[in-house]
Amino acid sequence: MKIDFAGRTGIVTGAASGIGKAVAEGYAACGGTVIVSDLRQEAAQKVSDAITAAGGSALAFAADVALERDVEALVRFAEDRTGSLSHIVNNAGIGGAQAPTGEYPVDAWRKVIDVNLTGVFLGMRFAIPAMKRAGGGAIVNVSSILGSVGLANSPAYVAAKHGVNGLTKAGALEHAGDGIRVNAVGPGFIGTPMLDESLDRQTLDHLATQHALQRLGTADEVASLVLYLLSDLASFVTGSYHLVDGGYTAR
Ligand code: NAP
Repeated sequence: MKIDFAGRTGIVTGAASGIGKAVAEGYAACGGTVIVSDLRQEAAQKVSDAITAAGGSALAFAADVALERDVEALVRFAEDRTGSLSHIVNNAGIGGAQAPTGEYPVDAWRKVIDVNLTGVFLGMRFAIPAMKRAGGGAIVNVSSILGSVGLANSPAYVAAKHGVNGLTKAGALEHAGDGIRVNAVGPGFIGTPMLDESLDRQTLDHLATQHALQRLGTADEVASLVLYLLSDLASFVTGSYHLVDGGYTAR
């Protein structure tokens, strides 16, 4: 049993960094053509060029997942350049401001919901019609452990990720008949630029101890689960939320 995306095209949003980059690299290593999408064209192009240099198939496209016109253009680009779209990984996300709900800046709330929840909706909204044209497909939405448990001082992030899990279930029910599977993954704390740039060493060390495995996860460990869920090996898996959290939520 082997994951094989030969002849398939998949979009990965937020693919210039961290988890998205690992998923894009893995998708190409499994034989598919990956559309490396991120906010900045140069950053996406750099990852796309590295994949191509390593013998994979990749194209770069700049898109802000919070903008309807960008996501529509992203899906059109994938279809125009490769013929069809089989997969999308709605991964782009931001941490957002940290404050309790009673003090949370309203503009910061709107920003996190726009990127982390509406961005996932827009990815599904435009990819699903393309997948129907392709005869089916699979979607993975990158949620978080914070899609099922809370964390103080990140109310917008927690709410957005809980929303992603609900949207995943709704989409799976609606589109199973179209041959489209929809799943979400819930990473624990993963060593990526998102974490490294927002937290100091002491906080990162403390977070590591909150996982049963006593360490942070890696982007590649999340990518393994995402690639499995996209693949035909997961043909009976839809509408569910899959943790990759080193035992964080087991306690
Ligand atoms: P990351 O290293 O910061 O990568 C996220 C990428 O998304 C960056 O390249 C970022 O670009 C891009 N991005 C931000 N806003 C965007 C937008 N509006 N449209 C398109 N791209 C955008 O973060 P990561 O840790 O890999 O996180 C990826 C996903 O995993 C997120 O959904 C996050 O919530 C989730 N997650 C992460 C962890 C963790 O511990 N790291 C845990 C659970 C879930 P810029 O760098 O230019 O902003």
